Amino acid sequence: MSNYDVIIIGSGAGGGTMAYTLADTGKKILILEQGSFLPREKRNWDPHFIFGEDGYKAKVEWIGPDDGQDVVKPIVYHRVGGNTKMYGALLHRQRPEDFTEQKHKGGISPGWCVGYDEFEPYYMMAEHVMKIHGNAGEDKTAGHRSGPYPFKAFPHEGRIAECVQQLKDLGLNPHHSNLALNRDIDEPWKRPCIACNTCDPFPCMLHAKSDAETAMVRPALKHKNVSLWTNTRIDQLVEEGGKITRLEGERDGEKISLSADLIIVSCGAINTAALLLKSRVANSSDQVGRNFTKHNQSGISAIDPRNPNDVVFQKTLGCHDFYHGSPEHPYPLGTIQLTGKAHWTRIMGDYGHLDMDETRARFVQKYAVDFWFTSEDLPDPRNRIEWTGKQIKLNYRPNNRESHFEFLDYFQQNYLEKMGFTEFLRSTKELEFTWHQAGTAQFGTDRKTSVLDPNCKAWDLDNLYVVDASFQPSQGATNPTLTIIANAIRVADHLRKDWFGEGKSLSTEDYPLSDGYMADNAGANLSVHSYTSDDDDSWGA
Ligand SMILES: Cc1cc2nc3c(=O)[nH]c(=O)nc-3n(C[C@H](O)[C@H](O)[C@H](O)COP(=O)(O)OP(=O)(O)OC[C@H]3O[C@@H](n4cnc5c(N)ncnc54)[C@H](O)[C@@H]3O)c2cc1C
Ligand code: SF4
Repeated sequence: MSNYDVIIIGSGAGGGTMAYTLADTGKKILILEQGSFLPREKRNWDPHFIFGEDGYKAKVEWIGPDDGQDVVKPIVYHRVGGNTKMYGALLHRQRPEDFTEQKHKGGISPGWCVGYDEFEPYYMMAEHVMKIHGNAGEDKTAGHRSGPYPFKAFPHEGRIAECVQQLKDLGLNPHHSNLALNRDIDEPWKRPCIACNTCDPFPCMLHAKSDAETAMVRPALKHKNVSLWTNTRIDQLVEEGGKITRLEGERDGEKISLSADLIIVSCGAINTAALLLKSRVANSSDQVGRNFTKHNQSGISAIDPRNPNDVVFQKTLGCHDFYHGSPEHPYPLGTIQLTGKAHWTRIMGDYGHLDMDETRARFVQKYAVDFWFTSEDLPDPRNRIEWTGKQIKLNYRPNNRESHFEFLDYFQQNYLEKMGFTEFLRSTKELEFTWHQAGTAQFGTDRKTSVLDPNCKAWDLDNLYVVDASFQPSQGATNPTLTIIANAIRVADHLRKDWFGEGKSLSTEDYPLSDGYMADNAGANLSVHSYTSDDDDSWGA
């Protein structure tokens, strides 16, 4: 007999969504998370701790690619809420074209077995649970919507409003970013977000950022049938007769063995691949771990020494005019966003390869506007996660980079220089930046070439689903998390109907905008170990 009806491994975007969406079924659900809660404390917002000391980062080492660096120390967070605890909370939909095959300068981005229309209602629900802000109609590349954004957009502050006007004067269509923050723009005393300058990439001390912990795991734990075990890592999925019958791992260093009728794996694209590979399950296609993608990403801090940038909350501007190309580029280029206003400690790290001391970094902090460029990298079966028997190997080489660098040059020369910026600091994010990891257990219609069926069930197993970013055959140039959440709701909708026999379909009403935060959820059904400052995650994969 199984211990649980459902076990969810991993409490990030995919796992949190699944817990939230299945919580009211009354089924006995256990969430397992290898990390601990990220504490609420003053240093949540201390840039010296976050950038200078790699605050809250998991102590993880992977082997690098065959012909590249030996060791990779990735920027990953093993916490309740996963990587969303530190994310930038910019959550937008993929473009409809991203669900279809697209020709890039560097090759082909494959289409999906499910289209934008099928995703659209789930995007609506995902936008509700994450409390997304935006202005419908501004972004000309966005697909159709069946309803408005739940909250109106964050307004641009002075220096950014100036940039928006300049981009418009140069013929572009900048839009307001879609942000997952719990703020009431007109009546800010009603909700906890204070629109501060320590949001991206900091945890939110006020639990006002809609991350997987605050928006999904804690609300799910208000249901008595849902429990969470922290500091619990699963190392083996044991298969018998086409089903996973046992999970083996460690809780607080002690061996555990568990079972459930339904197993949901959501460890993030890299750890999910590693878990399936080390368990030798779900891999009759030989596709587990392959086709790993992570986006091509670069920052440009653009400086106008005559014009200080004193904004508090910078991340409000987006520009998708070159998503599908430009008059000079007949192939996709990508997205332009802003990061959170970069503190000088971040600038020291980001531009450490340049001549940078504290005085110069403080100057950059004062005068720069911090732009962020994301372009698609393309799935390649040779770009893969491997399990060596002891360690993860990240066998990845970047691709489709020529158009990414053309994109940076094009925007700098034709727009940033015309806007009065005269100095430009650039940094392209390399192997350590696996923030947008995806694609290692793709869904598809052919069991010979995909790991998961269109409902994200492993083709080879009757009771195992994967709902993190692994399922994505490609990821456009959009930030991935809204799509991960929408997909997990889509899978949960299928499970509620086909596994648990419920008649009703999910709708936005199942994702109220006023769900409790912080103290409201403090009494939830937790089984946790208290945090100590030397709680170091050193045993993470
Ligand atoms: C600094 C930063 C900024 C980002 N900004 C954005 C942004 O603005 N917008 C956006 O869309 N995305 C952003 N992302 C990406 C976003 O965080 C990820 O897309 C998202 O968290 C992925 O969700 P997931 O469910 O696939 O995995 P994760 O959120 O990584 O969750 C996986 C969880 O599983 C746990 N786990 C792993 N293995 C095991 C195991 N064997 N046993 C038990 N538990 C396990 C991990 O500890 C982790 O908590 C950012 C990421 C980072 C790091
Ligand atoms: S208060 Fe708002 S802006 Fe500040 S970290 Fe929290 S969610 Fe982000």
